Order: sequence, then structure tokens, then C-alpha cells
Amino acid sequence: MMEQYICNSCGKKHDITPYRWKCECGGVLDIAKSTPKIDVTSWSHYPNSIWRYFETMPFAKDSKTWTSVTMGEGQTPLIVLDPQEPNTYVKVDYMMPTLSFKDRGAAVLMTKAKDLGVSKVIADSSGNAGTSVAAYAARCHIACDIYLSDETSPKKIAQIKAHGATIKQIHGTREEIAAAAQKAVEEEKVFYASHVYNPYFYEGTKTYAYEIYEHLEDAPDALIIPVGNGTLVLGAYYGFKELFENGLIEKMPKIIAIQAANCAPLVKAYKNGETVAEPVTNTGTLAEGISIAAPARSKQILEAVRQTNGEFIEIEENEILSARAKLSDKGFYVEVTTAANYAGYLKYQKAPEEKIIIPLCGAGIKSK
Ligand SMILES: *Cc1c(COP(=O)(O)O)cnc(C)c1O
Ligand SMILES: [Zn+2]
Repeated sequence: MMEQYICNSCGKKHDITPYRWKCECGGVLDIAKSTPKIDVTSWSHYPNSIWRYFETMPFAKDSKTWTSVTMGEGQTPLIVLDPQEPNTYVKVDYMMPTLSFKDRGAAVLMTKAKDLGVSKVIADSSGNAGTSVAAYAARCHIACDIYLSDETSPKKIAQIKAHGATIKQIHGTREEIAAAAQKAVEEEKVFYASHVYNPYFYEGTKTYAYEIYEHLEDAPDALIIPVGNGTLVLGAYYGFKELFENGLIEKMPKIIAIQAANCAPLVKAYKNGETVAEPVTNTGTLAEGISIAAPARSKQILEAVRQTNGEFIEIEENEILSARAKLSDKGFYVEVTTAANYAGYLKYQKAPEEKIIIPLCGAGIKSK
């Protein structure tokens, strides 16, 4: 299979090379492909991980690269949060090799990097994506530089260092850090292992939808999803869309996207009926994982939420901390960013019997 990239803005196609990460027009890249035909009977031929859905991913069917990259990521538990509310589930996505959902995307992205024969990658991150890329890069024997803020949680930095990645700490906004990484990518001519820009990452995060489908044997009514750059929103959307277009589910779940009020460019665009989000001034949030003032894929995120009849909910700082305590009282210790998801659920006006899934994206020991 010879895949190509396609620009989301101008529609131009580009060969998939190690150095291509955006279009000359500035647009973000998707993979040019049609909806995969899903053969449910193939799933049992693969290990119990995200790789059960290998044949829906844009790799040659006989490619075995993933077998040396996988750390068993995926197939995380789906648990009823509280017996009093039997239709509300949490998907415990912090039960992953590096303790966040980013492993879904990084495992697939680094498999592609290995296929392309790259010897070094660069990524920028608010923490978890960098950790995940560093871990899989180590596993692939690929050199790795991670650009992050000097305010990133020390535990995430320790995790990245442990994998032998070089840390480039930048004093600046998340956008300035991304710009520094992109400058280095251009100067050094290396692979940009970006969870935001590289569409292979979404081929991994889409397995979130496939796993929920297998567990429920149906789609839920609503998905609560945190959104910074939108890698889980878009992955979940693409995954359920593939299931829908294959006739395996009858309706798309609503996407209820959660942002921190102090950094909510997408909420603002949604409320104003805009199709792309203008950058906002980030006034600071404890939810470091969704602290993104200028999401590069805002157009696609807004489309996904609108097309599922979903909505945006914004969360105040005090709501994040109280939600974290409430989850701990139920046995789940999550990182601060993840508590925003539960806070969003508590604010969501749910219908009676509505089946809702809340992701527990990151483990508690990762943050302060
Ligand atoms: C990355 C991350 C998010 C946000 O994901 P985006 O892709 O930026 O939308 C939320 N929670 C946790 C724990 C994360 O690591
Ligand atoms: Zn373009």
C-alpha cells in the first residue's frame, strides 16, 4: 500500500517522506485514504492490544514492524464508575506502558517512523506525548529530542530522561516551544514525531473507539473527551466514524469536549459559530495537558464536535481540584488534567439512561 498525505486546507497530495510534516500552504496533513473495510474476524489473529485493529491502519497487511515496537498498549478497562449510575463508565487509559493514553498514538507513529528508517525524531509536548514518544523511540533505537516547558511536571521530565531522550527545556508558551521544535526539525532535517501534526498518531488514538465498541458491542450515547490539541477527540471521532460507515453501529456518539476556562480557544470558537479557533491568551490552568492556546487542528475538532451533535464545556480551576478529590474517593488516582474530564461530566446535562464514557487519560503519580 503506497499511502500519501493530503493537505487538509488545499487538498494537495504529498508523498510520505521522513521530513514532510505540513503542506507548503501551512495546512495540516491527513492520510489520503478511504474508509477501511473492517473485518471483525481478523481481530482475534492479533495480540490483545491496540494491534487487534491493525488491519484498519494504513500499513501493508504483511508488515511486522509493529511486533517489535509494541509494549502491549491498549485494551484498557471500561468500568462502571459508581453502581448508583450504571450508565456512566470510565475507561482507564492511564493503564498504559507510560501511564497515559498517548501510547495509543505514539506506538503507531513510531512504528511508521521505524518503517521509514529514520534515525532521529524531534517532538514537543506538554509532558505525556513527549514521554510516550521518548519511550517508543528508545524501543526502536531511534534518537529523540523532546522540547518542553521549564514548568513541566518534574515526574514527566524524569520519565523522559529515563528513556535516554535529550530534553530541551524552553522558557515560553506552549506555542513558542512548538515553534522551537519545528525550527530544529527544519534545520536538522529529522522526523517530526508530532502527536499534533503527524496523522499516524490518530490511527493509534482511534483504537479508543474500537475498544469501546468491542466492550459494549455498540456505541455509547456520549463521550466526554478533554481537548487541547484534540488527539483523543479526533481519534475517537475517526474510529467511530469508521465503525459507522462499516454499518457496525447505528449512530455516532456525541462528543462532549472539555476545556479549561482559562485556556479555551475552541469553546470560544464554538460559541461564536466559527469554523476555526483564533488563538487565545492562556491565563494559566492546572490542567497542563490541555493548556493549548492555538490548536493546529481546530477546524477538524470543531467539525467533529458539531457533526456528532456534541458540545463544549469549560471548567474552572476549583472544579478541577474538587473533581480530582471525588475520583480519588471512588478509588481512581488521576493526574490533574484528567480531573477536568470528570468535572466536565458533572456539569454535563445528561439525559436519563444516557450511556456515557469518561476517559481517565493520565495517572495521578505523573503530576503534583
Ligand atoms: C495529551 C493529554 C490530554 C489532551 O489531549 P490533546 O490531544 O491535547 O487534546 C488530556 N489529558 C492528558 C492526561 C493528556 O496527556
Ligand atoms: Zn496545502
